[in-house]
Amino acid sequence: MRRHSLCYIVFVSLLATAASSAQTKRTDLLKAMVLTGQNNHGWQVLSEHYRNILEETGLFDVDVVTSPPSGADMTGFNPDFDRYDVIVFEYNGDRWPTAVEKSFERYMRNGGGMVFGHAVNHTFKDWRAFNEMMGIGGWGGRDESAGPFVKYRNGQLVLDHSPGHPGECVDAHEYSVVTRAPEHPIMRGLPSVWLHGTDELYSNQRGPAKNMTILATAYSDPAREAHWGERTHGTGEHEPMAHTVRFGQGRVFGTAMGHVDGGAPMGSGPWPAMECIGFTTMIQRGAEWAATGNVTQPVPHGFPTATAAQFR
Ligand code: ZN
Repeated sequence: MRRHSLCYIVFVSLLATAASSAQTKRTDLLKAMVLTGQNNHGWQVLSEHYRNILEETGLFDVDVVTSPPSGADMTGFNPDFDRYDVIVFEYNGDRWPTAVEKSFERYMRNGGGMVFGHAVNHTFKDWRAFNEMMGIGGWGGRDESAGPFVKYRNGQLVLDHSPGHPGECVDAHEYSVVTRAPEHPIMRGLPSVWLHGTDELYSNQRGPAKNMTILATAYSDPAREAHWGERTHGTGEHEPMAHTVRFGQGRVFGTAMGHVDGGAPMGSGPWPAMECIGFTTMIQRGAEWAATGNVTQPVPHGFPTATAAQFR
């Protein structure tokens, strides 16, 4: 009997704690929107993952905004970007109403923040400003008009105007990510080389690449098969894996990493690309930098080493 009473008291006080913390929702947190709802990859899984890893930092208050499904009427889709410090894209789908696209461009020009990973770079081929924000992209019907191939050669970003459709995907495997901008706030303190969990490796991306800085690259091994592009094998070059773009006053962090199979249901996994501590750290730091221009997060314990991938 006494034990029941104690349980009851504990239960009631837990309820009271939950209620009071809801009432005293912190206002000092950065506001992040995870924008999702359409993607040929597992957006349900990845958008929830983004919410979790951003909230884990203790820096962000996160809302997940879900668009109508592909092909549905978009007229009611009108996210209020200005309420947020950073918009994290897990979206690769239909165009938005013109007014919404214009409001996002305004938001970014005026100092907004944007983060995107993996297949987001397929989207919005014909939305010029969005492609300037991303810097580079692939697939989605893109060709030479998207901009030059963006390469990392002899220690610097190189624009290559060779012909060809952008985007190949080397078979998923663990690969080494090489830091190329160690003094950038997102990269500070990270190892010069770390092993990423099994992921697809994008190569031959094209784009406007204006005001773009390559933060990290990975070697596209010609001994490995490549798919969904013009090449059948890796390029034999170090390809951009993470980068930043300045768009007006806005800041963009993008990464090619983070594959999750399309149609993956909630709770499925594990997905080594997204569970990799290297990937999650890049997203967490990239989001803070995009929101504020600075990074206060230390390198987490258990970060991958040159020879060992590490997972959450
Ligand atoms: Zn993929």
